[in-house]
Amino acid sequence: MPPGRPRVAVIGGSLGGLITGLQLRDVGCEVDIFERSPVPLEGRGAGIVLHPVTTRYFEDHGLLDLGRVSSSARTLRYLTATGEVLLEEPIAYRFTSYATLYAALVDFFDPSRYHLGKDLVDVADGPAEIRALFADGGDRSFDLLVGADGIRSTVRGLLFPDLRPAYAGYVGWRGTLPERELPTRAREELRDLLTYHVGDRTHVLSYEIPAPDGASMNWVWYRNVPDGGELASLLTDRSGVRHDLSLPAGGVRDAHVDELRGSAAELPPAFTDLIRATREPFVQVIVDLEVPAMVRGRVCLVGDAAFALRPHIAAGTAKAAADARSLAEAIDAAGDDVPAALAAWEPAQLALGRATTARTREVGERAQVTGTFRPGDPDVAFGLYRPKDGNYAAH
Ligand SMILES: Cc1cc2nc3c(=O)[nH]c(=O)nc-3n(C[C@H](O)[C@H](O)[C@H](O)COP(=O)(O)OP(=O)(O)OC[C@H]3O[C@@H](n4cnc5c(N)ncnc54)[C@H](O)[C@@H]3O)c2cc1C
Repeated sequence: MPPGRPRVAVIGGSLGGLITGLQLRDVGCEVDIFERSPVPLEGRGAGIVLHPVTTRYFEDHGLLDLGRVSSSARTLRYLTATGEVLLEEPIAYRFTSYATLYAALVDFFDPSRYHLGKDLVDVADGPAEIRALFADGGDRSFDLLVGADGIRSTVRGLLFPDLRPAYAGYVGWRGTLPERELPTRAREELRDLLTYHVGDRTHVLSYEIPAPDGASMNWVWYRNVPDGGELASLLTDRSGVRHDLSLPAGGVRDAHVDELRGSAAELPPAFTDLIRATREPFVQVIVDLEVPAMVRGRVCLVGDAAFALRPHIAAGTAKAAADARSLAEAIDAAGDDVPAALAAWEPAQLALGRATTARTREVGERAQVTGTFRPGDPDVAFGLYRPKDGNYAAH
């Protein structure tokens, strides 16, 4: 990179922010990451499907030991409602947990430049630099500000105040269960596999993820919930607070958890047992969100702040990583000319965001709305650029 070292503020210190911060740092930028949460984002979240595009950079730089941070599955199995094997196919997917990946990445970022408890509230964009203003009254100037602040992005809200996530008509009930607590059928029938069951306008899947004391079985059950009163009731927590995009573990009211456990009788028995044994299932609302542009002046958006993808192709973190990688390459190529770098970077990432949004929405619609999700259909496989590129064997 030529002489000027761009000063970069990354807003959001989750996976997208860390991946972006590390890669920009490594092409010579002076990077500070600002995270709203006052405490590290440890011990939270559930399963994440890894993609080669997410991990390659970190493996190449000796920052990530895949064997340590992930588990793998070699077989994708579809079950019938009564638990018979409908179909099997070979895969080479790797799975991690949010907490494991976060801990691995945050370890490699200079702690004095990873600022917790810093809530961005406004930006003042000028021709030569950009000023970030924080809720605590502090402000600092930078050459580039990257909004990696997720689905509720403040940065996006400043650029596109009218843009809101659009409810897809269904939620993902999610949970994890330590392997030592797995009921016998779940242990015997779900371990070492990626397992799916596709029902009538519903589907459920499970895979194993690393956990601090061994491994956990991670599951997601997509269920249609009409917008309005039913959704509002589900998203109202134990203390009466109404949530919008998710309800964390421990927050879901007993009546809804009881209903979930009762309805799990319609699933293959191994899933029924798994879901009933999970102590604190939680809810993720499935939405579509896409921006019309990812760059404005010296501000850009990456990851979920720009395109929050439905989870079906498991590409959210991979897309954040792809945004980060290409941003670092564009900055490296343009030196200290940040506007030129952003202009070169934006078109391909916008195209990628639009294409992945359309593909994962199509999978969701087939599974939950039109009932045309067919087990084994290659179009529905995990992938960022194309179905199945989430496989490690392909790389
Ligand atoms: C705690 C946590 C747990 C998660 N667990 C899972 C999981 O188990 N499985 C899964 O598939 N996905 C999970 N996700 C989402 C996943 O990280 C993203 O879908 C994907 O990796 C893209 O990440 P992102 O960094 O763009 O967005 P996010 O991961 O949503 O991160 C956005 C970050 O920005 C911060 N932020 C928001 N506003 C501001 C502001 N104004 N100023 C400063 N900081 C701000 C937020 O606190 C958050 O840490 C989780 C996200 C979080 C934050």
